[in-house]
Amino acid sequence: MDYGPALGKAPELLASAARGAGAGPDLTQGGGGNVSVKTGAELMLVKASGSRLGDVTPARGWALVNYGNIKRRIAAGSGGDAEFSDFILSQALPVKGQPPAKPSIETGFHSLLNTVVIHTHSVYANVLNMSAEGHKLGRELFPTAEFLPYKAPGAQLCAAINERAQPAAPQVFFLANHGLVAAHAGVEGALELNARVNERIKSGLGLPPFRPAGGGAGLSPANAALLARYGKSFLLSKVLSPDQALYCGPEALDGRCGEAENEVLAALFYILGCIEGLGLTPRFLTGPEIAYFDSMRSGRYNRK
Ligand SMILES: [Zn+2]
Repeated sequence: MDYGPALGKAPELLASAARGAGAGPDLTQGGGGNVSVKTGAELMLVKASGSRLGDVTPARGWALVNYGNIKRRIAAGSGGDAEFSDFILSQALPVKGQPPAKPSIETGFHSLLNTVVIHTHSVYANVLNMSAEGHKLGRELFPTAEFLPYKAPGAQLCAAINERAQPAAPQVFFLANHGLVAAHAGVEGALELNARVNERIKSGLGLPPFRPAGGGAGLSPANAALLARYGKSFLLSKVLSPDQALYCGPEALDGRCGEAENEVLAALFYILGCIEGLGLTPRFLTGPEIAYFDSMRSGRYNRK
């Protein structure tokens, strides 16, 4: 059976959540970040793997999944990453009049949370997520939020979120070396919650304004200048996030890159600059964390 009219307003709601969440490169870079809307006890629309948030419309850029099955699978133990990722793909349902779309790898944790979930790689939240002292500072700003230590995106992260997810709204999760999750019963509430958290971090820490990278093909002048300051070997050996590992390899740092790589680099330099400016200590991924991520990348993990 193909789903279509039964989805009602959900595709429009998802598109407006995606527009709000993907509003700027300070919140999402490249294909990072995703949003979802649940339409009942079993069905959920979620950003498709490989789409940018800004490209999601009511007609495309999303997949329909049975999140009830995914939730039950996580509760029973999600198993290994490859198996879990195959299971998520197997829960995609056909939608009338739409080409088949693959759900994002991060569909797992969306399944566990409130009706509307906004997940971004916010540079402001990531100042807290990517520094050794950040989660302690974050708890002072957001006493009711959850702060999770680094978990590889996939089965491990879902298991950690499942342990902490409370059914009552609102839900805010800070994911170390990764990003921010805000979940709420409605789209407006979720977007407002997401915006409020970002504003509170900016004012609470006195963060400087974020400057977008600009430019298209090749390194933007701002990124090239900052790369010269930090050095290629520093950026290749000190990894703050899965996005850095995915987008900022030797080729990109040599200038063979486009908009997505420039966005990820600009975010990274902003975060490093803020951490330095606040006198905090960057928390880089450890050798085993990077090795685990590399093995996932060579398998099924893709640019969200
Ligand atoms: Zn993410």
